[in-house]
Amino acid sequence: MEKKSESQLLKEKLMHKFESTWDCVSKEESNEITNFAEKYKQFLDTSKTEREAIYTSINLAKENGFQNIEDLIKTGCKLEPGMKIYANNKNKSLALFVIGNQPLGDGLNIIGAHVDAPRIDLKQFPLYEDTNIALLKTHYYGGIKKYQWTSLPLALHGFVVKSDGSKIDIVIGEKDTDPVFMIADLLIHLSKDQMAKKLSEGITGENLNVIIGSKPIEDKEIEGRVKLNILNLLNETYGMTEEDFTSAEFEVVPAGKARDLGLDRSMIAAYGHDDRVCSYAAVEAVFDCGVPNRTVCTLLVDKEEVGSQGNTGMESRFFELMVSELAAFESDNYSELYVKRALANSKVLSGDVAAGLNPTFPEVLEKNNAAKIGNGLCLIKYTGARGKSGCNDANSEFMAEIRKIFNDNKVNWQLGELGKVDQGGGGTIAYILARYGMEVIDCGTPVLGMHSPYEIISKADLYMTYRGYKAFYKA
Ligand code: MN
Ligand code: MN
Repeated sequence: MEKKSESQLLKEKLMHKFESTWDCVSKEESNEITNFAEKYKQFLDTSKTEREAIYTSINLAKENGFQNIEDLIKTGCKLEPGMKIYANNKNKSLALFVIGNQPLGDGLNIIGAHVDAPRIDLKQFPLYEDTNIALLKTHYYGGIKKYQWTSLPLALHGFVVKSDGSKIDIVIGEKDTDPVFMIADLLIHLSKDQMAKKLSEGITGENLNVIIGSKPIEDKEIEGRVKLNILNLLNETYGMTEEDFTSAEFEVVPAGKARDLGLDRSMIAAYGHDDRVCSYAAVEAVFDCGVPNRTVCTLLVDKEEVGSQGNTGMESRFFELMVSELAAFESDNYSELYVKRALANSKVLSGDVAAGLNPTFPEVLEKNNAAKIGNGLCLIKYTGARGKSGCNDANSEFMAEIRKIFNDNKVNWQLGELGKVDQGGGGTIAYILARYGMEVIDCGTPVLGMHSPYEIISKADLYMTYRGYKAFYKA
């Protein structure tokens, strides 16, 4: 072997190099990466809405021995280390706790991620007929580039509550034999005016009309024959009437399954990596953490993409209430002060995706501080925009603690920043948990094409996200 020069040794000692995960894993670990990705793709395919993600997660939690907190509240419960408890908030948000050896007052290790994703929602009275076509009016949810959602097979995921209180889940467009839906773009031949518009105005919000049918009902005497035929089909299959749309949540999402991307199958193209990738990694991590020292919690929330408000978003007091319930289980001398201390002593990885450096658009990121596909789990000290405005900005003490946990557990990690200074920005749930006094840092998987109908992640980064989250729980 060639002898290393003095400056070569000095370089190795002093300079930090971020590495590709593929270069630092064994053959065995490489197989684990592939296997984990297969399970994740299945999770994605059954979790295309926030409700579906919560159903899927609860089913997995039950298989892993988690008990419903509502049952424990009824029967009474004494907390024991290793006890697994889930708390379901209106089928749209979920907390998965594993009780640790230390008392709750010492604080929890929490990973918070969100299960909602940008999409197109139906309006409350959506169905109309125009020019022999039945269409659905929509109002998009979260930050989307509207033009990306045209000329694309779409599926309809609905949850309907009828006036008698009965509930129906509807999924159309996901099976190979199902019909799909589509928003038709304008033909290029007549797009002179549209093409001259700004990209943000080429397709407007009110242009996002979803085609649902074109065949009239037989009776030629009646008005609105195409629309009536659609209502008739919905009624035959689901017992729905038009009024039932008013108490329904219909979400329009890209149809089809998560797919391997690349000849080397190193990536996954799918709808909703943001933020179901961190959600899934956090769910699997809480299943695999054993009996932790500190109580751990995987917290899945809704509404992040629209600002975290609402009673299923991070701004709601649900999580605080659940920690209070656990405190009441732990001791007969429940006190509010004790709960506040438990929260203030908690540590959080705010699991949300990072903007990966897209080689086609390198100009929006600063490459020394940008997350790269394949380089592992990404730590983001601050988000925000225009001079870090609105950011959480993790403390160095906490950053050092997390870095050590990752290094000690062979978690390949990197750093990220959401865009060049003054290029744009974004937020996560980090600042909301920081209010309690918790130490919080954003920590998640790099994504290409974030918020587009098909987002891209690396399987290696997915696996390192899981490994990093598990190490944090076991610390
Ligand atoms: Mn997100
Ligand atoms: Mn997002």
